Amino acid sequence: MNNYTLVIHGGAGNIHPGMMDAALEKEYQLALQTALNKGYQVLEQKGTALDAVAAAIVALENNPLFNAGKGSVFTKKGLHEMDACIMNGADLQTGAVAGVRNIQNPILLAKEVMLHSGHVLLSGNGASEFAMSRGFAFMPDDYFYNKERYDQWVDIRDTDFYQLDHKDDNLKGTAPNPDYKFGTVGAVACDHQGHIAAGTSTGGMTNKRFGRIGDSPIVGAGTYANDATCAISCTGHGEYFLRAVVAHDIACLIEYKGLSLKAACEVVVLDKLKKMGGEGGLIAVNAAGDYEFCFNSAGMYRAVKSSKGEELVAYYGQASK
Ligand code: ASP
Repeated sequence: MNNYTLVIHGGAGNIHPGMMDAALEKEYQLALQTALNKGYQVLEQKGTALDAVAAAIVALENNPLFNAGKGSVFTKKGLHEMDACIMNGADLQTGAVAGVRNIQNPILLAKEVMLHSGHVLLSGNGASEFAMSRGFAFMPDDYFYNKERYDQWVDIRDTDFYQLDHKDDNLKGTAPNPDYKFGTVGAVACDHQGHIAAGTSTGGMTNKRFGRIGDSPIVGAGTYANDATCAISCTGHGEYFLRAVVAHDIACLIEYKGLSLKAACEVVVLDKLKKMGGEGGLIAVNAAGDYEFCFNSAGMYRAVKSSKGEELVAYYGQASK
């Protein structure tokens, strides 16, 4: 039997010691641990990597601490437009949705797209029509209301600026606030059969407009899985991750250049992406069950659990295990 591993993230950014009091730290700890347990249970019961990824992401989407599902940020029009993608490494099957509204768990809609639409990526109203045709329930707008994110949006809604989950002093816009972060969520898993999968879900960026779509639902940019190389879920300033085609670039370094998972992640995140000015990070696994956390920001909400006995929940500092 293959080693099995689940890795999750809840966003990267300027997450540093001192930014959270003990109570908030405990909330994040509990949220990450709960999602980790949900996904890991699937792997323990000999479920697939794909189902483990979906289960972990559903738990994160249902928690308003994260910018995905229930906790999604506000757009310029005061709405919530969500992006998600899921990919199966065994056969490269993929499903994704972009700019979807009122869906409780966009990752489940992405999975439905993969299994039942005959397409890979559906957007906006068309994605809603598909959701309706598959019997998905629609949540009212106030299900997604969150005072903190509302206030963040009110601060900048009359400007043309967009920003991350928290105020960002690296993006032009509002008064500098060093405690910004990217609150996207993601999961990657390797199951007992040695198959891998990846998923990512996000509300995108506060005050985004014109149907802006980030890297998360784009195959090869924010999300990618291929049993032959790796499964990756990214979080960060999406425009850079799109331009650098981050997730697929890592897979290419492994496939064509023979780099290790760790070396490939580091080349892309710590060197190429950083030189472009792209801040953020990612989680990765391969079919042997090895995993990596890699980020060029101060921190990343992250957690791992594996059949080798590895277990960790962390937020700050060194990406090393
Ligand atoms: N990558 C996401 C986006 O640009 C944001 C994030 O990771 O929080 O939409």
